[in-house]
Amino acid sequence: MTGWKSCYYCGKPVRGRNKEHVPPRIMFAPFSNDSITVPSCKRHNQDRSTDDQTMVYALLIPLRNMMAKGRQIEKPDVVKAVDYARPNLDQVRRRAFSASFLTTPPRSLKDMPETSYVTNQRAMEDWVRKITAGLVYHAVGDYDRVISWDRSIVWLFDWLASASSAGLKFRDAMWILSNKEDLRSELDRLSWLEGWSAYPNAYPEDIYSFWLTVRTRDAVIWHRFYNSFNFYVQFSASSSTLASLREKAEWWQVVKTQPKNP
Ligand SMILES: [Zn+2]
Repeated sequence: MTGWKSCYYCGKPVRGRNKEHVPPRIMFAPFSNDSITVPSCKRHNQDRSTDDQTMVYALLIPLRNMMAKGRQIEKPDVVKAVDYARPNLDQVRRRAFSASFLTTPPRSLKDMPETSYVTNQRAMEDWVRKITAGLVYHAVGDYDRVISWDRSIVWLFDWLASASSAGLKFRDAMWILSNKEDLRSELDRLSWLEGWSAYPNAYPEDIYSFWLTVRTRDAVIWHRFYNSFNFYVQFSASSSTLASLREKAEWWQVVKTQPKNP
């Protein structure tokens, strides 16, 4: 790990040992897994430290709110992550905070747990793009200049981001949700390969898992956070990058079953 490498997100040369954890370390704070890391320029590293906390909390806040309403969360690791973050979840309220999804919910939805609101509406999309870029760099071992991360397409499912601190009107919300469901069933029909994980000590799969579809000119990465939020990123890439993604997924199929301490 010496000399010049290129940044996982912008391709600019990186000197030294600046690295980015993919996904960010804060997501796995109460666990003892290994991490996937990639070289990062100062900008795409420092940029993220506050964002990482905001985004992770934006996902944990709705889960905490569900638990508060007595909704069962089935996966013990997810409960552990929420409990660990719980004392801090309201301390970042200027950037991510609890908010209702609907301004005036109908009577049947009065008891709906609050979701979260992020002051920078594009921040979650950018955050997921960066995690995607990190995984792609990890598979390829270099930056692919064919990829334009700023032009990649992001779909966020299951995170009912409040559109404003006051929430959405019911009719607008229903329109958004039904469009999303059509899209989701199209994505479901793609054939998905299991994504790889940190090695040898993998990420707790209920905290983070991903899958990928690799086609002739593009790929889609499907991230699942906290066994609850399904986010997809579609991007065009060079054929060699697409081949590396396929190979990495195949590699994982082989190594994941091997003993961890040879
Ligand atoms: Zn960079």
